[in-house]
Amino acid sequence: MLPESASAPDPPLLPVSPPVPPDTVGKLYSELEDKIREYRPKDDLAPLRKAFEFARRYHQDQTRDSGEPYMAHPVMVAHILADMRMDVVAMETGLLHDVVEDTSVTVDQVRKEFGDEVARCVDGVTKLAKLDFSSAEERQAESVRKMLLAMVEDIRVIMVKLADRLHNMRTLGYLSPERRERIARETIEIYAPIAHRLGMGKVRNELEDLAFQHLEPDAYKEIVAAIENRRHSNQEFLGEIRQTVEAELRREGIPARIDGRVKRPYSVFQKLRRQKITVDQVYDLMALRIVTDSVKNCYAALGVIHNKWRPIPGRIKDFIAIPRPNLYQSLHTSVVGPQGQTFEVQIRTEEMHRIAEEGIAAHWKYKEGRKGPAADDQRITWLRHLIEWQRDVQDSTEFMSTLKVDLYPEEVYTFTPRGKVLVLPRDASPIDFAYAIHSDVGATCTGAKVNGRIVPLRSALKNGDVVEIVTQSGHVPSKDWLGFVKTARARNKIKHVINASERIKAIDIGEKYLEKEARRFGVQLGKIGKGELEKTAAAYGYSKAEDLYAALGYGRYSARQILSKIAPEIVAEEAPGSKPVLEVPVQSGAPGRQHDGDAVVKVRGIDDLLVYRAGCCNPIHGEAIVGYVTRGKGVAVHSKTCPNVQNLMYDAERKIEVEWARAGDDSFPVRIAVHTDDRPGMLNQLTSVLFDESANIRSLEAKTNLDHEGALVEMTVDVRDKKQLEKLVSAMRRISGVRDVERLLH
Ligand code: MN
Repeated sequence: MLPESASAPDPPLLPVSPPVPPDTVGKLYSELEDKIREYRPKDDLAPLRKAFEFARRYHQDQTRDSGEPYMAHPVMVAHILADMRMDVVAMETGLLHDVVEDTSVTVDQVRKEFGDEVARCVDGVTKLAKLDFSSAEERQAESVRKMLLAMVEDIRVIMVKLADRLHNMRTLGYLSPERRERIARETIEIYAPIAHRLGMGKVRNELEDLAFQHLEPDAYKEIVAAIENRRHSNQEFLGEIRQTVEAELRREGIPARIDGRVKRPYSVFQKLRRQKITVDQVYDLMALRIVTDSVKNCYAALGVIHNKWRPIPGRIKDFIAIPRPNLYQSLHTSVVGPQGQTFEVQIRTEEMHRIAEEGIAAHWKYKEGRKGPAADDQRITWLRHLIEWQRDVQDSTEFMSTLKVDLYPEEVYTFTPRGKVLVLPRDASPIDFAYAIHSDVGATCTGAKVNGRIVPLRSALKNGDVVEIVTQSGHVPSKDWLGFVKTARARNKIKHVINASERIKAIDIGEKYLEKEARRFGVQLGKIGKGELEKTAAAYGYSKAEDLYAALGYGRYSARQILSKIAPEIVAEEAPGSKPVLEVPVQSGAPGRQHDGDAVVKVRGIDDLLVYRAGCCNPIHGEAIVGYVTRGKGVAVHSKTCPNVQNLMYDAERKIEVEWARAGDDSFPVRIAVHTDDRPGMLNQLTSVLFDESANIRSLEAKTNLDHEGALVEMTVDVRDKKQLEKLVSAMRRISGVRDVERLLH
């Protein structure tokens, strides 16, 4: 049989720590050592004492709002950590947690005195202390909680932070109403849910009840009074029920420890709010908890309860079969008691009880392996991992060193200067941040400050960064940004603006092009009304003349084509086949609109352009290329080394960035000249190289070069890309007797 707990004396509803007299801090510390020795008899407490003396020296002249010496606070935080059965590093951190924040001590100093682990933890707690959540809106609470967890590299940091918060909440009464309200709200929105997520039921409950007391004083008083009113009858009732349950369980041979308890004020309050009822209508203020030895007996006990009292349908919950994400396990049921009162019964094993009360802290204390139930919640998977690691690790110090965690590896949590949290993908840049605030802020962003320091726009943001965006009105996004932004929002907005500015360019080009052609043909555009121009635009399917100019600038039509529509009596339509010789289409036939997905050349940021390879240099896949917006023929793609490029690019405005699309089955005809010795078999060797590389030969011509006693072979072959061409050339050069191989541009 499990030991039966004595009927617990009524707990004070809210434990509030009285201020500690100045001369008792030392005594408080020795009590801490005593407490630790009980559960860690072999640990060396010298470093702990050193941490105590160190912190006491630096906090020496400080007092808390209660008037007690400041040092009472860190010692009490360490006490709470000892109650959680934490290790010595955690308690050293507890003692030192405020020295960096509130005294002249630096993290480096802590590292020198107490080592890396303690320094890391103190640094972690200090970082959290610097966060100000007061301005975070309520709907952001989840982001803030995640950010807080994401910032924690060592899970002990969060334990110390929770202990710190718990002690501050216990002594909250000494603060001004404003600070009280702020801290209480932060506690109920941020810290209590974190304790809940970590499965630390006891800490969560106390945090919630303390915060509730300060946030809703009237509701709190009313509920406490109602509980007090019925305390006597409740206790009596619970006593009876308890005896009955004990007798029934004993008869069935189920070992059990039974606690009767009155529900805590905050959970009653939530119930009132949820069900929109008054406190008089709450019947199940009472709950019974049965702790037994095995899962089998949990279900057996449930059977006993349901046999005795009628269960309320829909109130039976099996958290053993399906544990909560925080690993909480129990059977819950509500039944109708002998006089028609309803009450709740929770049934669990000892181990489940430990997890429910202490959560992650339970894993410090009990090292025996346990079978972790599968938790569905992905976010909590790490907790399961901790348990699994712990099972494999015998030495507790080794376990501690595995506590470095990265809870949300795919996200980064950042702040605006006003304290709003922005969740961005990992490695997001200040540009992503700027666009997350507003697209105007993104578009006009010229610089960024992170934690007060100017950083490059492409730098990656880190958890907890406070980001300030510098803007300048009229500034436009840069294409380079597309190279490093991580959010779809920023990417789309940047593309949109770039497309719009390319369009403005195209309109301008189109307009000038049309004017020039008009002058050439003697068409007086000035005499043609806007209405006439719009009619022409409509004929091409555009609603505005502007759109027609853009199409012209993009090279979808030639100016002559348009003019022949505007002034058919003067300008005849272009005769087919009169295309400029230099311009050769990408694919066979006339320049075609590129098709999404299989385009050979892509114009960065724009999907709607005619693109063709310039015949002068005939660039092939893989070569460095550059685009040039022609008058009326779309974008000509030249090799960057093409001599024409130098001449064309005087008009920098028409230069456009292009890149090869993914490799397809396209092949490119290339002309090659091979200078060789004049000897038999040479042609054979050359063609077999081409054959080996499966390059198709379009034409081949060999002539004897009389001047140089050699031969010249000229050929046109189809190659896939630059790489294949290079391979071919070097294979031909290896043939003995080959003097030189060159690519012919025309
Ligand atoms: Mn503190």
